[in-house]
Amino acid sequence: MKRLFLSLLALCAVATASAQTKVIAHRGFHATQNSYDNTISALKHAQALRVFGSELDVNETTDGELIVIHGARHRDIPNVQAADFQTVRALPLINGEVVPTLDEYLKQGRKSKATKLIIELKRHATPEQEARVVAKTLAAVKKHKLNKRVEYISFSRYICDELARTAPKGTQIAYLNGELSPAQCKERGFTGIDYHINTLKQHPEWIKQAHDLGMTVNVWTVNDAETMQWFIDHGVDYITTDNPLELNRLLGK
Ligand code: MG
Repeated sequence: MKRLFLSLLALCAVATASAQTKVIAHRGFHATQNSYDNTISALKHAQALRVFGSELDVNETTDGELIVIHGARHRDIPNVQAADFQTVRALPLINGEVVPTLDEYLKQGRKSKATKLIIELKRHATPEQEARVVAKTLAAVKKHKLNKRVEYISFSRYICDELARTAPKGTQIAYLNGELSPAQCKERGFTGIDYHINTLKQHPEWIKQAHDLGMTVNVWTVNDAETMQWFIDHGVDYITTDNPLELNRLLGK
């Protein structure tokens, strides 16, 4: 009887941990037939899976267009931030899709209420440009009435600071670069940490510290089942993955 009780308890603990961990498709669900990172089709596939979030990367071209592409390189363009929009757009991605604008991405984002957009603002050359990218992104998200259905992430401390200073109250902002403790992030007004696998494995105590501060914990980019399970067992809120099907399977979805 005692053994049965303990087994049930263990089962409940696993179920609770699993229920808490949510799936974020890294650059959309691109690892599927005919899709590619950061494309509209990758977002559609993520939406079809009804994952919690679909991540995307935002860069600004020389003529001020916000585009969704990881960068810096695109085909024979060494740095999309040093090219104009038409030059980037004229070169299709390897699956034949064009590089989408942020506006096109947000339009598609509106079509699913299940899947949030996790917007990564890439580093840019100057603080002025980073501030402009933040302002333009916030305006675009507002225009599409998506304020409550997006979260922001960045490696740039300056971008996260700008978001904390200028985004609407309640906006979720997580820092990617990994050198700040949860308390240091909280102090700057960030709402979460979104750190590399190795950073969180070196600092597993940061998971609880973040939770005690009311912050979220996201980990990137986890593609194998064993590491996914480690982070599920350690109670992270989000796992960012190129393999959302495997993560869904582990979570019993
Ligand atoms: Mg990214």
